[in-house]
Amino acid sequence: MLPNEQDWFTEPCEECGSAFSLHLTGEGKLHEEQTAFQKIEVFDTTKFGKLMTIDGLVMLSSRDNFLYHEMMSHPVLYTHPKPRRVLIIGGGDCGTLREVLRHPDIAQVQQVDIDEGVTRASLKYFPELCEANDDPRAQLYFEDGLKWIKEAEAGYYDVIIVDSTDPIGPAEGLFGEAFFRDCVRALADDGILVQQSESPLLHMALLKDIHRYMRRAGFAATQTLHFPQPVYPSGWWSCTMASKQSFNGFREAEASARPFKTLYYSPEVHRGALALPPFVQEQLAQI
Ligand code: SAM
Repeated sequence: MLPNEQDWFTEPCEECGSAFSLHLTGEGKLHEEQTAFQKIEVFDTTKFGKLMTIDGLVMLSSRDNFLYHEMMSHPVLYTHPKPRRVLIIGGGDCGTLREVLRHPDIAQVQQVDIDEGVTRASLKYFPELCEANDDPRAQLYFEDGLKWIKEAEAGYYDVIIVDSTDPIGPAEGLFGEAFFRDCVRALADDGILVQQSESPLLHMALLKDIHRYMRRAGFAATQTLHFPQPVYPSGWWSCTMASKQSFNGFREAEASARPFKTLYYSPEVHRGALALPPFVQEQLAQI
């Protein structure tokens, strides 16, 4: 039991047998909204800045979202030989969009989140994440990503970033084989998808399924990267890339000479994130 429990936000994770708490300021809850899709809340914390949750699950905090947003965008963009057209599915807080638009050669980014409420809340409470929303290369749509990708022009996108909630509710289909098959169709021949793929410690069965479904859907190669994310269960998270061609390293020299500042991403971190611990390697080798 926490001291003065009402002063804390707590996300229990029953299947993990653990819980994560953040201490709240006197302001406590700043926002609560039930949209047609989910319940969005924003809290004010003493050490992690603002905190957004969806259906009681942590989405992001002001303090550590850079870890996730940089790792969801820069590795895949420096792995693709020449990305120009990017699709973000989910990502309504706009942090990934901001990172993608730091790349000067990107010509167009379409972001498709099912729930406009998430972007409205982010504009109000996380304005720093939304500073690229008015970039002329950005197009924001509020629709179901599953429907969007089915109707997308074949071969249109260079990179697809699936920045979704956990695989329950509206995001469930975004982890399935049929969705990945639609992504294969919508990607150009050298296209790459990256999907947030949960915790390697807690969600190994799901991580294996993601690799399996990506390969079955027609991707030639898959690669998981791992990184810290203190506010998510276990504090250790991953994303998984799927490529229509085999992976051939990444553009390290260009990543070193990147014309923008990053807080977490660097070519050295990129290389390290690809080095999987033996227990993860063993599990993924069984697919
Ligand atoms: N970083 C977060 C995490 O891993 O917990 C995810 C952040 S982002 C806020 C997740 C977004 O996915 C939400 O805004 C939600 O509305 C969106 N989403 C869920 N299902 C979706 C779907 N079928 N199509 C498009 N967006 C979806």
